[in-house]
Amino acid sequence: MKLASVILDIPTQALDTPYSYLVPDQAEENDYPIAVGCAVVVPLGGRQAVGFVVEMVDCEPTDVPGGLDPSKLKYIKRAVSQSYFDEEGAACAQWLSQRYIAPLSACVRLFTPPGGVPRMVRTQGGYWRLEQPATGEVDDRWVTLGENADQFKPRKNAVKQQKILQALRSGDLRAAELATEFGSVSSTLKSLADKGVVRIEHRRRMRGLPADGYANGEQFAQPGGFLVQQRKPEPSADAQRVQNLAIVQDDSIVVAPAPGEASAATEGFPAPQCMSYVDTFVPTAKPILTEGQIRALETIRKACDAGAGEVVVVDGVTGSGKTEVYLQAIESVLAQGRTACVLVPEISLTPQTVARFRGRFGPMVAVMHSRMSAGERYDQWDFVRSGAARVVVGARSALFTPLRNLGLIVIDEEHEGSYKQDSAPRYHARDVAIWMARRSGAAVVLGSATPSIESLYHCAKDPRWHQVPLPERANGRPMPAITVVDMAREFSSGSRSMFSKQLTQALEAELAAGHKAVLLLNQRGFAKFVLCRDCGFVPSCPSCSTSLTYHERGNMLVCHHCNYRIATPPTCPECGSPYLKKFGAGTQRVEDDLRVLVREFPSLNGQDVPIIRMDADTTSTKGAHQRLLEQFANAHAAVLLGTQMIAKGLDFDDVTLVGVINADTQLHLPDYRAAERTFDLIEQVAGRAGRAHLDGQVMVQTYEAENIAIQAAATYNRKMFLCDELPKRKALGYPPYVRLVNILAWGAHEDEVRRETGELREEVEKRVRDYGGPGWVVMAAAPCVIAKLRNSYRWHIVVKAPLQADVSRVLLPLFRSRKPSKTVNVAVDVDPQSLL
Ligand code: ADP
Ligand code: ZN
Ligand code: ZN
Repeated sequence: MKLASVILDIPTQALDTPYSYLVPDQAEENDYPIAVGCAVVVPLGGRQAVGFVVEMVDCEPTDVPGGLDPSKLKYIKRAVSQSYFDEEGAACAQWLSQRYIAPLSACVRLFTPPGGVPRMVRTQGGYWRLEQPATGEVDDRWVTLGENADQFKPRKNAVKQQKILQALRSGDLRAAELATEFGSVSSTLKSLADKGVVRIEHRRRMRGLPADGYANGEQFAQPGGFLVQQRKPEPSADAQRVQNLAIVQDDSIVVAPAPGEASAATEGFPAPQCMSYVDTFVPTAKPILTEGQIRALETIRKACDAGAGEVVVVDGVTGSGKTEVYLQAIESVLAQGRTACVLVPEISLTPQTVARFRGRFGPMVAVMHSRMSAGERYDQWDFVRSGAARVVVGARSALFTPLRNLGLIVIDEEHEGSYKQDSAPRYHARDVAIWMARRSGAAVVLGSATPSIESLYHCAKDPRWHQVPLPERANGRPMPAITVVDMAREFSSGSRSMFSKQLTQALEAELAAGHKAVLLLNQRGFAKFVLCRDCGFVPSCPSCSTSLTYHERGNMLVCHHCNYRIATPPTCPECGSPYLKKFGAGTQRVEDDLRVLVREFPSLNGQDVPIIRMDADTTSTKGAHQRLLEQFANAHAAVLLGTQMIAKGLDFDDVTLVGVINADTQLHLPDYRAAERTFDLIEQVAGRAGRAHLDGQVMVQTYEAENIAIQAAATYNRKMFLCDELPKRKALGYPPYVRLVNILAWGAHEDEVRRETGELREEVEKRVRDYGGPGWVVMAAAPCVIAKLRNSYRWHIVVKAPLQADVSRVLLPLFRSRKPSKTVNVAVDVDPQSLL
């Protein structure tokens, strides 16, 4: 008999283990075959539920695994989807659930297609019904000339027939296009089709534009294949540079997987009929590599050959040619018939970035990011599943696309906090990538100008980690000089502006010379609040306990978490003092001040300099990000003002000045990574200046000019920073010297949350006493720094464990068996990125 392990798609802890079901001998004729990775319907108590098959085993009725009684086992009703993942995916989901102490169902869901899975819904009549996901593949009806087209002579008065045939002589058209042109065509088409004059066929449509995710282009069709929407070529040379998507319409290059490779890659996965795929790309030329790049490539190739999940940290300054290294490493991997996955922080996943990969590998590149619609992501996912996509470029979750025969995983900007998911399963893409690479005999490349302290630590301690420095820019240009501007001194000398004299002068000079500037407003943390200078009162949100953010427009105080808003009080609500100072400033306010400042620059002679603001508000609509960048690229002299989202990836030749308006905001976050993040940010943003023939300069404004993180960043001296930071981490017991687990509890009533956290702490303490060992510490239960969020009170318990500890062995059983509270939510964050 055949048994299947099924993980139910119900996220409650009580059901958090695979269940065994019998596999019926014969599937119903029209059903999907039952296999690992399928969604199946199974009986559960009195009803039916959807689950995912993670394992299938053959066994004798006398010898059922786990000592189960075969007479008690029930049959799977039927499979209700194709197979979404294979045994490797199933193993990964189960490992994730262990490693991150997370619900199994949430871990399996990572491997299912975008747009949803089949589910059971309760109808009004009270019975259960299966509902298929709304997102799936879409077909278009295409019309082509049939075998009798040449002989056919339409009658004189059959005008519509004549017009349709005329149109089709210059190429295939969709029925919808014909209808737009000629009105209702369906009966005409039917009669032509009956005579064999035209053929009507369904063709799979690829939604969106894989190159950049913005569907504002024109469609290219290839008979029988996917259709790719292609962006129209932009007339402007500058826009072209942003896009870097050189498109030459009549010089198409056909790239399709070699037949042998495709079949190896698609084993077990029938490709949708005919995946041949035509697009228009001009491959980018390969530069002659620098010595550093050659060394990096050799190290990566060795790691690939070792086939043991080795890690290569490409530690290269911005502009050192890390991306070129990735491209050539991927090329070698593809030549061996294997595939590659490239992760990029969501924010740097711009058309520019994608175009570099497509420029080299053409249409075999799939792209996944959250700005795409569910349908677009579904098509990309299915494109990967078919085996025709051999390179996936995407954000964190692209790791879970069904890429087969994986040879290389690249994680660009590996220090980025966004590689950690902040809901269950709270995985870190770097750790998952390394696990996957070890399983599949692949290699991992981590690239950054500022590798995380953890990665540097592994390089020093673990022989499976290799570090390759690329200390110079590929074009030989020097890194820009960084000046630290002491704002406290500016203030005491009477200047009240948020722009220091030095920055103002530099800005005027560069703009007058026709160059561009990038100004970064560091917004993470508790910036932009109002403070009473007499009593120190700071208005905060009644529901979230965070300080309210001051918005210049409308003179409002707004909560960034729950959108609570009030008018800014004219006097202190606590003591009545009129001296309410606005600390920090939002991008809007900076933009207003900047406009005034720039307008008065005498050397510009009243010339209008565009100021382009990029922050969460101005980039919330689809394509806005891209439009703003194009606007900046096309301008003569211009200022790009923005939040962290401008710190990385932008590559404009004529940016000569980078200013950091407020380097301090991040420094004061009560979090052990605050100094590291400040150091990283300054180094990253400095990399935006002077990338080409023009020299660049960087100005960092701070009230703490002596701070080591700032000083070290300004002199590009990582060693100086680490020599200060590491002993602190060691003394205080923080990574990379210990592992952390943050156990979070939240609920509507603070006393309940406190009580629950107190009890939980005792249970944790007991597990740690019984199963932990030396080096384990359970901190006192305490309110989080963000003590209240969206009306929930938040408490946490921080657990420290030695580096080699098996955290799951100690803590997982507790959370699996613990009866969940009805009013207090509990989540476990293993290796948290922050403790706020
Ligand atoms: P990084 O990813 O390290 O920031 P990039 O790969 O983006 O660096 O390279 C920066 C610029 O240098 C790009 O315009 C790239 O085309 C160019 N470049 C990369 N490698 C070389 C090389 N070996 N010779 C000349 N130019 C190069
Ligand atoms: Zn006051
Ligand atoms: Zn709030």
